[in-house]
Amino acid sequence: MSPSSIALKAPNGVSYSQPTGLFINNEFVQSSGNRTLDSIDPATEELIATVQAATEADVDKAVKAAKAAFKTWKDHEGSERGKLLYKLADLIEAKRELFATVDAWDNGKTYAEAIEGDLVEAVGVFRYYAGWADKTFGQTIGTTTQKFAYTIRQPIGVIGQIIPWNYPLCMAVWKLGPALATGNTVVIKAAEQTPLSILLLAELVKEAGFPAGVVNVINGAGGEAGSVLVSHPLVDKVAFTGSTSTGAKIMGAAAATLKNITLETGGKSPLLVFNDADIEQAVNWSHFGIMSNQGQICTATSRILVQADIYDEFTKKFIERVKSTSHVGNQWDAKTYQGPQVSKIQYDRILDYINIGKNEATLALGGKPSSAGNGKGFYIEPTVFIDVKPTARIYREEIFGPVASIAKFNSEEEAIELANDTTYGLGSAVFTTNLEKAHRVAAQIEAGMVWVNSSQDCDPRIPFGGVKQSGIGRELGEAGLEAYSQIKAVHINMGNRL
Ligand code: NAD
Repeated sequence: MSPSSIALKAPNGVSYSQPTGLFINNEFVQSSGNRTLDSIDPATEELIATVQAATEADVDKAVKAAKAAFKTWKDHEGSERGKLLYKLADLIEAKRELFATVDAWDNGKTYAEAIEGDLVEAVGVFRYYAGWADKTFGQTIGTTTQKFAYTIRQPIGVIGQIIPWNYPLCMAVWKLGPALATGNTVVIKAAEQTPLSILLLAELVKEAGFPAGVVNVINGAGGEAGSVLVSHPLVDKVAFTGSTSTGAKIMGAAAATLKNITLETGGKSPLLVFNDADIEQAVNWSHFGIMSNQGQICTATSRILVQADIYDEFTKKFIERVKSTSHVGNQWDAKTYQGPQVSKIQYDRILDYINIGKNEATLALGGKPSSAGNGKGFYIEPTVFIDVKPTARIYREEIFGPVASIAKFNSEEEAIELANDTTYGLGSAVFTTNLEKAHRVAAQIEAGMVWVNSSQDCDPRIPFGGVKQSGIGRELGEAGLEAYSQIKAVHINMGNRL
C-alpha cells in the first residue's frame, strides 16, 4: 500500500485499499497545501475517508503534466489508444463489485443500482469509445481539377473536466472515454461529495498502461480547484456536468481565454401521459423516471403532465406504485429502492422545496424526512404533489430529489405548451399508443432527448445533452467525439499557378 492510500472496510464487508492522493503524472501525490476533503457515508453520516484536495499549485502541476503528455499522446496511433481503453474497461469490469461498493457507500445509491446500472454503463462506454479510437477521420473535398482539400480530425489539447456526484464513476467515464479516444489529455475533477471511486479509476489508468500525464485526477472544492482549472491558460477545453448556475459561471470564466466548452446542466423534464396511453406502463415508467437514484438525475422526469380524463386514475395508480415500490432504506439492503440523499445540503434543499410545495399544491404523499435511518442519514420520504400549477416553484425549479409534481392538461396543444414552458430542455417523455401523435409531439418538445413510452433510456451509442439552459453540446454517441476533436482543412494546389 502506498503512503497515499488507506485500508477501508465497507459496510457490505468489502475490504480494500483506497488511494487518497492527487493523481498527477501517473503518481499519487499529497496536496501541496495540505488541503483535504472528507467523504461522508450519507446513510450513517460517518466519515469514510479523508482525501487530498488540490491547491492552485497542484492544479497548475496537473495541467502542465497534461500539456507535456499531449505532445506525444496526440500522435499515439488510434488503434493503440483503443487497446488501452479496452484494457481499462476490462480492469474496471474485473473490479466491478469494488467500484459498486465504493459508489454506493460514498453516494448513497443502492449497491444493486450501482452494480447493475452504473458499472455496466461505465464499462460499456469505455468499450464503445475504444472502438471509435481508430475510426475518426476527415474527408477529401474536391473543388476544381487543380485544387482539392482534405480535412483532418485532430484532438483539441488539454481538457479540463468537471463532474457531479450523482453518478460518480459513470460521469468520469462519459468524459474520459471520448476525450482519450480522440487523443486529448485530461485533468478531471470529481465532485466534493464523491471523491473516492475516481481515485480507484486513476489507479487502473496506470495499470492499463496509459502514459504518464495523459489522465490526471484531482479532488477539490469547486470554487477553488474547479475554478482554477477552468481559468487555466493551458487548458484548451472545459467539459462540465453540474448545475445550471455553476455552468453559467464556468462559461463566464472560460470566456476570458475563449475556451471551447461542453456543458451538461440541469433539467425539469416533462413526462406527458395522453388518454390513449397504456396507463400501467405510464405509471411504472413515471415512477422510475422521478424516483430512481433518489431523484438525483439531471434528466429526471419531474413534471408529470396527465390528460384530464385519465388524471384521477393515473394519480391514484401512481401513488399506489410509489407506496408499493419506493422502499426507503440503506444502500446495502436488497429491499431498498431509495437510499439516502447524497449530502446534508441536498437533504435540506429538498425539504425546503417540499415545504414550499405545501403552500403551492396538494401534497398527496410523503412530504417529510423518512425514519429509515433511525435518526441518522439523509433519508426523505418519496413525495408526490398533485394539482400543481405551472407557476409553482416546485413545477419550475430543479429539486434534484424524490419529489414528483403532477399537473393536468386538456389537449395536445396545451400539453406541448406546458412541456415547453420552462427554461430547461434536457429530457422529456411521451406516453401514447397513437404512433402519429408520438412522433408529432416528439418533434415539438424543446428537449435534447425524448423517450416515447419510456423514461431515462441512456445508451453509449445515443447522443445525450440538452437545449436551452440544460446545456451546450452533446456527450455519448458519435456526437461525443465531435466535442473532443476539431477539424483542420488542408488545401492542395496541384498546379494552379499565379
Ligand atoms: P454543482 O454545479 O454544484 O457541482 C458540479 C461540479 O462543479 C462539482 O465538481 C463542483 O466541485 C464543481 N464546481 C462548483 N463550482 C465551480 C466553479 N465555480 N468552477 C468550477 N467548478 C465548480 O452541481 P451539483 O449540485 O454537485 O450537481 C447537481 C447538478 O448537476 C444538478 O443541477 C443536475 O441537474 C446537474 N447534473 C446534470 C447532468 C447532465 O448531464 N445534464 C448530469 C448530472 C447532474
